Amino acid sequence: MILDISGEIQGVELVEDIREQFPSTTLGILGVTPHGYNSQLSIEFLKKGANDFITKPFVKEQLTLRIMQVLEMLDTIKEKSIEATIDPLTQLKNRRALESESKKLIQSALISNSYLSVAMIDIDHFKLINDTYGHDIGDDILKLISQVLKSSLRKKDLIVRNGGEEFCIVLSDLTLKKAIDVFEILRKKIASTSYKKDGVKINVTVSIGLFHGIKKDLKSMMRLADEKLYIAKDNGRNKLVS
Ligand code: GH3
Ligand code: MG
Ligand code: MG
Repeated sequence: MILDISGEIQGVELVEDIREQFPSTTLGILGVTPHGYNSQLSIEFLKKGANDFITKPFVKEQLTLRIMQVLEMLDTIKEKSIEATIDPLTQLKNRRALESESKKLIQSALISNSYLSVAMIDIDHFKLINDTYGHDIGDDILKLISQVLKSSLRKKDLIVRNGGEEFCIVLSDLTLKKAIDVFEILRKKIASTSYKKDGVKINVTVSIGLFHGIKKDLKSMMRLADEKLYIAKDNGRNKLVS
């Protein structure tokens, strides 16, 4: 927004009020200050959260350039904040994204009186894959599994690399039976997907723990799903336990 503070309104206070509602990551503020404006006030204006200011009189091109600079800065902030929620290896969302995005899913499930399906998925004997074929092939397999997850689920489903060789998936609006179907299909698809390179063919399996229901915080749903995951591991792996 462009804020002309040549008039009566106290520009510094106004910026402070605006910033309470609109942080500098979402709204750029460019102030237009009168000629001879108190330099201390200009400093205060920036300190309270304005991005820049331009002093009257100015030519149109100067204003355009300042606006472009503020917009470019907002774009960079947006790109960086998206980057901070993406796992660089798999391009899936990371744990930071899981926290914020699951909050929205929990809220809407609570409002609509519906359940979430929270699955913890862990690759079986992945250490053995690394030990046998090397860490780079291990990385390739993590990428391959991530692609299978992405291509098998809906766009609105939350798919997260929770860390290491573990993934967390949150689905909404499904019955338990339907959720079990989705994850059984996924488990079988992963087991039948082969990684092939230089004449080597590798298949991995996953164990899945599924919680179906709703709780106010994601952590307790993940904990319950995790308990099921341990049972799947204890019962021979390549299994879904709900
Ligand atoms: P389990 O079936 O019980 O889950 O056995 P596991 O071998 O999969 O489990 P464990 O926790 O013993 O080993 C996980 C391995 O995953 C060890 C770690 O080196 C590997 N790993 C974690 N992150 C990465 C990664 O980014 N790349 C590669 N290549 N390996 C990773
Ligand atoms: Mg594992
Ligand atoms: Mg693990």
